[in-house]
Amino acid sequence: MTRFIFITGGVVSSLGKGLASAALGALLQARGFKVRLRKLDPYINVDPGTMSPYQHGEVYVTDDGAETDLDLGHYERFTGVASRQSDNVTTGKIYSDVIAKERCGDYLGATIQVIPHITDAIKEFIVSDITDEDFVLCEIGGTVGDIEGLPFLEAIRQFRNEIGPDLTMYIHLTLVPYIPSSGELKTKPTQHSVKELLNVGIQPDLLLCRADREIPEGERRKISLFCNVHEDAVIPALDVKTVYSVPVRYHEEGLDNQVCRHFNLDAPAPDLTRWIKIQDCVLVPEGEVNIAIVGKYTGLMDAYKSLTEALDHGGITNNVKVHINWLESEVFESEDALSHLEGVHGILVPGGFGERGSEGKISAARFARERQVPYFGICFGMQMAVIEAARNMAGISGAGSTEFGDCEKPVVGLMTEWMQGDQLQQRTQNDDMGGTMRLGAYDCTLADNSRARNIYGQPVITERHRHRYEVNTNFKDQLEKAGMRVSGTSPDGLLPEIVEIPDHPWFIGVQFHPELKSKPFDPHPLFTSFVNAAVNQSRLV
Ligand code: GLN
Repeated sequence: MTRFIFITGGVVSSLGKGLASAALGALLQARGFKVRLRKLDPYINVDPGTMSPYQHGEVYVTDDGAETDLDLGHYERFTGVASRQSDNVTTGKIYSDVIAKERCGDYLGATIQVIPHITDAIKEFIVSDITDEDFVLCEIGGTVGDIEGLPFLEAIRQFRNEIGPDLTMYIHLTLVPYIPSSGELKTKPTQHSVKELLNVGIQPDLLLCRADREIPEGERRKISLFCNVHEDAVIPALDVKTVYSVPVRYHEEGLDNQVCRHFNLDAPAPDLTRWIKIQDCVLVPEGEVNIAIVGKYTGLMDAYKSLTEALDHGGITNNVKVHINWLESEVFESEDALSHLEGVHGILVPGGFGERGSEGKISAARFARERQVPYFGICFGMQMAVIEAARNMAGISGAGSTEFGDCEKPVVGLMTEWMQGDQLQQRTQNDDMGGTMRLGAYDCTLADNSRARNIYGQPVITERHRHRYEVNTNFKDQLEKAGMRVSGTSPDGLLPEIVEIPDHPWFIGVQFHPELKSKPFDPHPLFTSFVNAAVNQSRLV
C-alpha cells in the first residue's frame, strides 16, 4: 500500500525543503521502506532546461533524459533511488498536456477549468508510475501563498479527501527566526504560514521548524497550540554543519517516529550507520585540498550543486576536506589572473554554455596541462581542453567550437545525429531549445590501458549527458599524435566521450556529467580519483 507525504514550505524560500524531503526519504528507507521522491514545481516553464542557472540553479538530468529541478539531485544523493522523468512536473507541463488533450477533443466539449481539469492532471501525476513503493514523498515547490502554487495545494487537498487521511500526510517546513533586539525566537511567521495553508483547506500534520538555535519548550508549545499540531509533531530543524548530518539530526528530533506514528506503522528503528559514518568523515577530515573551479555561474552555488557535492564525496573517500576556490572564467581572461591558479591542487572546468568566459577556461586548461596540475574537464570543460590541446599541442590554429559561431577549424561542432539505443536522433541548428540536447544516460566504451578504464575498473560505463556539441572525430588522429588520447567513445565509436593526456599526472575531460551520479555512500570513481590526484599534488606544492 503506497502512502503519500506532501511537503510544503512557508515564510521564506530557500529553507531547504528539498533537503528535508530527501533526508526524510533516507530515514524511511533506513527503516526498511521503499521510497520515491517527487517534485511539483509551480512555475510556468515546461521544465527547467531552458532556465538560466542564475535563476534556478543547476538543471539535474535523469537517466531517462529529463531536465529537472536540482532537488531531484538531493533525492538521489540521499536515497540512491534513480530519479525518473515522472518525478518532476511543472505548471507548464501540466497545462501543455491538458491543452494538448483539449485540442484532441478528449474532453468531449467540456469547458476546461483549473478545477477539475488542472487539479485532476496534477493528481494523475502524483499517482503515476508507482509500483510497490511504500512511500511517495511529493515536495511542492515555492512558498505557500505564491499565486502559481494554488492549483497544486488544491490538488493535494482533494487528494487526501479522496484517498483518506490514513494514507496521506502533510508536512510543512517553516522558519522560526531569532530577533536579536528582543533576544527571542518568534513563532508568529509560522502561525501565519499555517493560516495560509488553512485558507486553502490544508491542516498540516507535522511542522518542521527551521531555526538557528534550540527552540525552547514554551515556543514549541505555542506553535503546537496556535497551529493545531501535536507538540511532538513540532520538530525543530536546526542548522547543521554538513547536509549529511540532516538525516541523523532529524531522527534525533523524532521526525521519522512521528511519520510512523501518523501512519500507525510499527517499523523497526532506522539503521543510520551509513549516515553516521559519512557525517564523521565530513566533520573530522585528516587533511585538505584546494580545487579551483573555473566557471561562469560562480556567484550562485546552486548552479553547481551536484558538482560541489561530488567533490565532497571524493573528499569523504580520501578523508580530506575539499576547499573550493571559485574563479569567474571571464575575469580569468587577463594575463595575471592565472596567478589565482598558483598553488591549487586541482583545476576543474565544469559544464557551461556560450562563448562568454570560454577563453578563460581554455587558459585554465592550458595552465593545468603545462604546469602538471590535475585537471578535470566536465562537458564544456572537456570541450575547452580539447580546443586548447588542438591549438597548443597539435598546432591547429583557429581551433574553436561552432557553439560560438562559424569557426575556421571546428574541433568542437554541433551534433546533428546520434544513436539512442537503436533509434537515430537528428537535430539541426534551427531546432527548439527546450529538450532537444543529447540528454540522459548513454553507454560509453573505455579504451584498454587508459586511465579512464583503470579508474572505472570496467570496460563499459553508463553516464548522463546534456550537450548539443561534441568533439569532432575528424581531428582525433591529430590530437592523439600530439598527446591527447580519446579514451572513451560511444559504443559505435563515433562520439568521443572521454579524453585524457597520458603524459600528465591527471588530465581527464568527459563529455558527460559524472557529478549527477555521485552519492556520499557511493562516490563517483572519477571524483575519488581526481581528489586523490589533488592530494598527491598537495604533497608536491
Ligand atoms: N555547451 C556545450 C554543449 O552544448 C556543453 C554543455 C554542457 O557543458 N553541459 O555541448
